Amino acid sequence: MKRISHWIDGKVVAGTSGRTGPVFDPARGEQTAEVDLATVAEVDAAVQAAKAAFPAWRATSLSKRAEIMFRLRELLDANRKEIASMLTAEHGKVLSDALGEVARGIENVEFACGVPHLLKGGFSEQAATGVDVYSIRQPLGVVAGITPFNFPAMVPMWMFANALACGNTFVLKPSEKDPSVPMFLAELLHNAGVPDGCFNVVQGDKEAVDAILEHPDIAAVSFVGSTPIAKYIYETGTANSKRVQALGGAKNHMLVLADADLDMAADAAVSAAYGSAGERCMAISVVMAAESIADDLVAKIAERIPNINVGPGSDAASEMGPLITAEHRDKVAGYVDAAPGEGAKVVVDGREGAQSDGFFLNPSLIDGVRPGMRCYDDEIFGPVLSVMRISGYQEGVDMINASPYANGTALFTRDGGAARQFQFDIQVGMVGINVPIPVPVSYYSFGGWKSSLFGDTHMYGPEGINFYTRGKVVTSRWPDPSTSSVDLGFPQNR
Ligand code: NAD
Repeated sequence: MKRISHWIDGKVVAGTSGRTGPVFDPARGEQTAEVDLATVAEVDAAVQAAKAAFPAWRATSLSKRAEIMFRLRELLDANRKEIASMLTAEHGKVLSDALGEVARGIENVEFACGVPHLLKGGFSEQAATGVDVYSIRQPLGVVAGITPFNFPAMVPMWMFANALACGNTFVLKPSEKDPSVPMFLAELLHNAGVPDGCFNVVQGDKEAVDAILEHPDIAAVSFVGSTPIAKYIYETGTANSKRVQALGGAKNHMLVLADADLDMAADAAVSAAYGSAGERCMAISVVMAAESIADDLVAKIAERIPNINVGPGSDAASEMGPLITAEHRDKVAGYVDAAPGEGAKVVVDGREGAQSDGFFLNPSLIDGVRPGMRCYDDEIFGPVLSVMRISGYQEGVDMINASPYANGTALFTRDGGAARQFQFDIQVGMVGINVPIPVPVSYYSFGGWKSSLFGDTHMYGPEGINFYTRGKVVTSRWPDPSTSSVDLGFPQNR
């Protein structure tokens, strides 16, 4: 059986814990590898490698660090297909979707290539007589990233591209469910010229996560995953005096007003609900349809579902692959099981006809969903789309704002005034206007509000640069000795 190990100090290091986790090919339902699960000592070895590499890396010139990022970008570009097929083999997402993930990840490396510009500070000449003041941003030291199963390439790139470019060294703890891509990324970073020790991967579970959260030499932790764990990471990490950004789960609503183009809205709802089998934190989970168009919209969504080609991700004809594990598939199916008993109507039942030789579940559509039903209250993270019928704009906005989650949302309308009001009213971090999955480009930042983000700083883009650096302000005087005198007063600037 293939064994997936750690990457510490520039090389593969076999685990010694004797504990491993299974890695599956979700399309076949078979175990394909086992991954080492790190001990506290193995996490410490990675942190010590990163700590030792930090002084030289932070002293490396900005142009050299940018040059390495450019080289990494070229290596990633040349290996797009290889990374995508690794993603498909362990995550299950279809190849075209995996290529999209790689492309969105690479954009973060492209952003980090601009680090000399991004780290420019301010300078004020003559802030007081003979005194200049300037600001600089410096790296934090060793920083860690803990990532989810659903984007094993892109989410690590959200983190390490900016972290490394800013002069930090990095310890990544990827999801134990699909650990191969992070190891391949480590190899590419190495080949791009990132010095040994600057980037490390420790495979593991809660034991490794807790070792990171409690390690005194880790200055900051970036996390992406489910809400309960995000909250735990934030509370434990900050209690251990670390800077923490912890992105959590989601329940994304798409509000369709009566004037919307219903074919376009139906296409968007189907794409955003069932793409990647709904295992995206920006997936649309609830369509809120104005009552006057709800029957038409439900019919248009339902008629599109049978055309979705569900199959193994490696088959070029497949549009939707399996779920990550058998347990997760069964949990998702449980929401469809429960819906009729809670008063909702299963319009399309994805449990019917699902392939049995893998973790497959076909797309489901549930109508008449209301708050209080499990399929509305919980993050499902699977190919289940709920429809909630509402009176119009205000009820839709009120419902969305009442949700504890606030990652993404989308409005479909032809009314520019309503769209502008929506952007003003809605209490959600990422908003799409006739765009169902509004993941910000790499030069903006990604993050939700409320229970979708613990911490103040969104991920990547300008906020990522701020997260991975701290500010310093220098007040400097190169005096004429003849003007020197004792003055016990507080420094004034006139
Ligand atoms: P998860 O929370 O189960 O796992 C995320 C990471 O935390 C993994 O590395 C895992 O090993 C670790 N972990 C799991 N349980 C732990 C525990 N008890 N203690 C310490 N560490 C633990 O999430 P997942 O199932 O891998 O990913 C899916 C979730 O991630 C969904 O909720 C999804 O919405 C969310 N997500 C959010 C975003 C975002 O940007 N907000 C992006 C992608 C995924």
